[in-house]
Amino acid sequence: MLRTVVSAQEATKIKEMLAESRNVVITCHTGPDGDAIGSSLAMYEYLKRKGKQVVVIVPNYFPDYLRWMNDADKIIQYDRRRALSKSYFQQADLVIALDYNGMYRVDEMQLPLSHCRCKKLMIDHHENPENFCTIQLSRPEMSSTCELLYRLLIAMGEEKQISLHCAEDLYAGMCTDTGRFTYNSNDPEIYEIIAGLMRKGIDKDKIVRNIYNQYSEGRYRLLGHILLNKLELYPDLHASIFSVSREELKQFKYMKGDAEGFVNIPLEIKGTKLSISLREDTEKDRIFVSIRSYDDFSAQEVAEKYFNGGGHFHAAGGTLYCTIDEALDTARKALEAYRETLSQ
Ligand code: 5GP
Ligand code: MN
Repeated sequence: MLRTVVSAQEATKIKEMLAESRNVVITCHTGPDGDAIGSSLAMYEYLKRKGKQVVVIVPNYFPDYLRWMNDADKIIQYDRRRALSKSYFQQADLVIALDYNGMYRVDEMQLPLSHCRCKKLMIDHHENPENFCTIQLSRPEMSSTCELLYRLLIAMGEEKQISLHCAEDLYAGMCTDTGRFTYNSNDPEIYEIIAGLMRKGIDKDKIVRNIYNQYSEGRYRLLGHILLNKLELYPDLHASIFSVSREELKQFKYMKGDAEGFVNIPLEIKGTKLSISLREDTEKDRIFVSIRSYDDFSAQEVAEKYFNGGGHFHAAGGTLYCTIDEALDTARKALEAYRETLSQ
């Protein structure tokens, strides 16, 4: 038995909301990751089996290593199919917001989302949710949206309705949001949930291979370049920064998703407890910021104060609209500002 995270009352309300709806649009945040796509496809699978008209619409491209998931090919990418997406939003009587806490997180898809007058259901684990949904199931203490969705399905009495594909999607999201269960994963119930998913027949070893052993050659050449030439280590501050420019990304034939997880690597260096990654967008003039931390240092606070972002205590991100050199300056200033805490 899992402890109560979703109350019986909440589960009933959500179950009713799902039962009353016919046309459902499932959405997730821009730059979808394993948890965003995993929770979206798990919900899609569940609702499809309930006989609903359901589509998954994501703001933009999602990485190739998530395309093994069943029905991934049915996902609609908003920035490529605007007219079609808008018609789905117009017809929807329910929009589900998975793995994001505010409308700004869907980027340009805000337009159809905010115009949509239908009911909205948020299922998410990011701090400080914005109030834009009819029902808001927000649990920042959960390791992933997929973990929360599993708990919701159980609380709704729908264990039997979790199909093999649904279980695979949920495992993928739990696995990726915890770095293969190496951070944010000290809750023993996570392992009870994994056991539940394994009883559905998932091949968890194969899922891990599908996700992690599918990278391009360019990713590893780029990583080599970053570690050799770009990594700034600040041993006195137990911190590191690296930046990658658009030109460098092109040089290494960068494809979206190639730099995923790079920000975690400097933390493997003894004594490091903060890592900041700055990556220039290949299209627009903006810098994507990723921050990771250990122990009692908040990555989220740094993201909010310096990088127009947010996220979780140990894993956060943001965006800067400036040059890569200016972004580096900002990051160095951020480290300076925390000198006292970081140097301890
Ligand atoms: P990543 O570094 O993997 O892009 O993001 C780390 C975590 O921070 C993810 O959970 C992601 O959803 C969150 N995150 C990234 N950018 C932002 C942002 O601009 N705002 C908020 N609230 N969360 C973000
Ligand atoms: Mn997540």
